[in-house]
Amino acid sequence: MSDSTFGKKYSSVVIRDAILIDGRGKPPYGPVDIVIEGDTIMDILPVDPISLKRYPEGWSRPDGEMVIDASGMYVTPGLVDMHAHIPFDEVLCGPMGPEYAYKLWLAHGVTTVRTCGFGTDEKLIEHRRMSKENRIVAPRLVVLGSWPATVTTPQEAREEVHRLHALGVDGIKVIPRPHVGEDVLRAMAEELRNLGMKAGIAIHIPQNSVIDALKASDAGGDRITIEHTYGIPQAAIPGTQSFPPDYNYSNEIDRFRWSGHVWMEADRYPERVLNVLDAMIANGTTWDPTMVVYEINRELELVKGRRWHERFTLPSLLEHWRPTPEYHASYHFNWKTSDEVAWKGKYRIWMRYLKTFFDRGGRITVGSDAGFMYALYGFSTIRELELLQEAGFHPIDIIKMATTNAAKAMGQDRLTGGIRKGSAADLAIINGNPLDNFKVMYGSGLERYSEDKTEVVRGGGVKWTIKDGVVFDTKAILRDLEEYVEGMK
Ligand SMILES: [Zn+2]
Repeated sequence: MSDSTFGKKYSSVVIRDAILIDGRGKPPYGPVDIVIEGDTIMDILPVDPISLKRYPEGWSRPDGEMVIDASGMYVTPGLVDMHAHIPFDEVLCGPMGPEYAYKLWLAHGVTTVRTCGFGTDEKLIEHRRMSKENRIVAPRLVVLGSWPATVTTPQEAREEVHRLHALGVDGIKVIPRPHVGEDVLRAMAEELRNLGMKAGIAIHIPQNSVIDALKASDAGGDRITIEHTYGIPQAAIPGTQSFPPDYNYSNEIDRFRWSGHVWMEADRYPERVLNVLDAMIANGTTWDPTMVVYEINRELELVKGRRWHERFTLPSLLEHWRPTPEYHASYHFNWKTSDEVAWKGKYRIWMRYLKTFFDRGGRITVGSDAGFMYALYGFSTIRELELLQEAGFHPIDIIKMATTNAAKAMGQDRLTGGIRKGSAADLAIINGNPLDNFKVMYGSGLERYSEDKTEVVRGGGVKWTIKDGVVFDTKAILRDLEEYVEGMK
């Protein structure tokens, strides 16, 4: 690994002349100088012409060991990716291993990643520590423990929560087995609360589960985040979805093909959908939709052909995503026009209800589920922001979802305030305005005209990512990643 990718720790950092998006859903303001000492934001000083007149005579602008000129740039809180699986498998990511994914996230301003299992809890706890000590190039990790398939009773669930707590995880990721009921979930949530495991429970509700989003929300309340969209339309449809007689849940083509129709069917019962959403809102349950990972279902060739794959996606990952019955989510055999049409319809309805959920007071977060179905680490987090904009949200609200909403859902107290005095120094310094165009955050940059309009130049990108006061030069990280991918071809 080249040294330039490593984060640098300074006694103090001053970011000068930035336009600030604080992550609390308020409009941007600036320019400001942001003062960081150690791992904490110490001050935010407006330096626009009007504010400058209000400082006492003799006042001078703050100085630091490291001064970053952010004129023309926007600063947001570090983004949080709420749904991620860390690739430890060398077959997938080569000798760089998980750092390949970590670096891609950091290069996109992602400073916190909530890991959703499976089976690598000990390694992740170790990485969480190493990231905190700045010994690896990685975002802050919030580790959700892997829930074993063997637990079927409330008593076993309580014991299992204690075991995971002793192991040191922050919360739990669960995909309930078909016959496991909400009594188990209720016991989990109760025990989790007792033990103060603040990161809560991320639940992926399979279509063949006896639990749906309504039952999960009632059982887990504000300690639950509903992942993806599973369980929500299912809770609204009276009885079962209209599966064909030969449907088999274990056949992934069946599963994903018919998942394309579920929202259309639920939408025939709008009042029932609203009841589910209102119950989630009343219970304080978060919705983490991860729309980006399914995007391939509505436009297979387009998503496969994203231009960043050439520079930043490992050949081994591309190989893994090709249709094969052996891997989860690599099911695009004979994917049909009709499947894409169904999924396009599904997204329209899904997005409409996401907006309704938000409008009625629900909390939404940003997760990617990267590593599957051509959703590349980092890039897919930004793409999720774009999809939320497509769903009708204001970019200011989307930044809030990706930052302070996530912090609240995970009980990360030092991040819940966004960019303000006393918060953790987790920031993304962006060469452009993400509220105008989220594409400025892509690591592959943005093509635009040169000043004199005679040539096309590459601009944009997150320039610096700061995590716990540690400063990462994202351009150096991207160069390193590009070389790595090239070398693996
Ligand atoms: Zn997942």
